[in-house]
Amino acid sequence: VAEPLAIGDALDRVLERVRVLPDEETPLADAFGRVLVQPAVAAVDLPPFPSSAMDGFALRSDDAPGTLPVVAHIAAGRPSRRPLAPGEAMAISTGGVVPEGADAVVPIELVEERNDDVDVPAVGRGDNVRPRGGDLAAGDEVVGRGTRLGPAQLGALAAAGVTSVRCARRPRVALLPTGTELRPGATELRAGEIYESNTVMLRSQSYSAGAVVRELAAVADDLRATRDALANGLESDVLVTSGGVSVGPHDLVRRLEAELGVEEVFWGVAVRPGRPLTFGVCGDTLVFGLPGNPVSSLVGFELFVRPALLALQGLADPRPSFRPGRLARAVRRNDSRDALLRARSHLQDDAVVLETLAGQESHMIARAASADALVLVPRGEGELAAGSPVQYLPL
Ligand code: AMP
Ligand code: MG
Repeated sequence: VAEPLAIGDALDRVLERVRVLPDEETPLADAFGRVLVQPAVAAVDLPPFPSSAMDGFALRSDDAPGTLPVVAHIAAGRPSRRPLAPGEAMAISTGGVVPEGADAVVPIELVEERNDDVDVPAVGRGDNVRPRGGDLAAGDEVVGRGTRLGPAQLGALAAAGVTSVRCARRPRVALLPTGTELRPGATELRAGEIYESNTVMLRSQSYSAGAVVRELAAVADDLRATRDALANGLESDVLVTSGGVSVGPHDLVRRLEAELGVEEVFWGVAVRPGRPLTFGVCGDTLVFGLPGNPVSSLVGFELFVRPALLALQGLADPRPSFRPGRLARAVRRNDSRDALLRARSHLQDDAVVLETLAGQESHMIARAASADALVLVPRGEGELAAGSPVQYLPL
């Protein structure tokens, strides 16, 4: 058996095999979570005109302090029909066009209104005026290539007059659970059976990585059924199997994939949980074999499948984004494998403190349900003391 690869080396080998998917014009309404393959450029200046930041009075700063006649009322979307002349004031709402000739707005709270006049205090040139193009100029990049679109990016694009963007198409992921013992929910379990739980978990992980999912029915550990299901799953951008990649006589996945023309890139990662994880390619299809224990599948997806899905969409940095934190209590290290421990995080004195949970075995998905973080504990001798700096992945 070959030496298992370090996590980072295994991830390098995955990312080396990724080619960004073809792109398509994507309306903003469909673009949440998608990745730009081209920069998006503003169609208009932002703001598109000098805009009032306050409800108040537009005037020339040179005319303040003083008493000025109010010659017009400007609402948002209803500009004044004429410029402001020296010695005049115009009432204006937030978002109204500051008229030509005015260079400041005095907030309504600071003035005294008398009949058709207004008493204004001194005001600085430019006060409470949002200059045209102050946020962004037409032709400027709003969001860069390789960026994943979240709420702030989508809001910026819409404000800048962008209605559609160029994104890689969504990766199509086939999920195939393997194991004779697996039963769908809402059936009675017979001797030796368990509920199939990896698909719904991997589906949600895939979905949150921007993929569309095709669920294949669980297959028994039977050569014929497994081969047919694998062949079907290979008709996707990514095939993710769970189970059947270990060393037992019923672990058929790798053998059958080889028969179907999958080139195995690696099998075995120095990680706990998830050591027998396998990765290969078949034509343009990426093929991941996650170990069946639910926590192994959960963790294996975060370490390898999610980065691959993001890289397929052209994300600039698709690697897992580990963050710094501190251990709440000491943990024993594994001498040969890096561990990803399920933990609960909270903020304490400006640091994220990570409470590793009791029950870290790879079948303990119910324990994992109270975790919001995976803490990376590098392999080594002895313990990591309480308070040690560590890295963690939010779950
Ligand atoms: P395997 O990787 O096939 O050796 O499976 C390891 C353990 O994970 C076994 O106890 C399986 O019953 C369990 N397992 C495999 N696949 C699933 C699944 N889809 N849902 C829940 N448990 C699973
Ligand atoms: Mg199995």
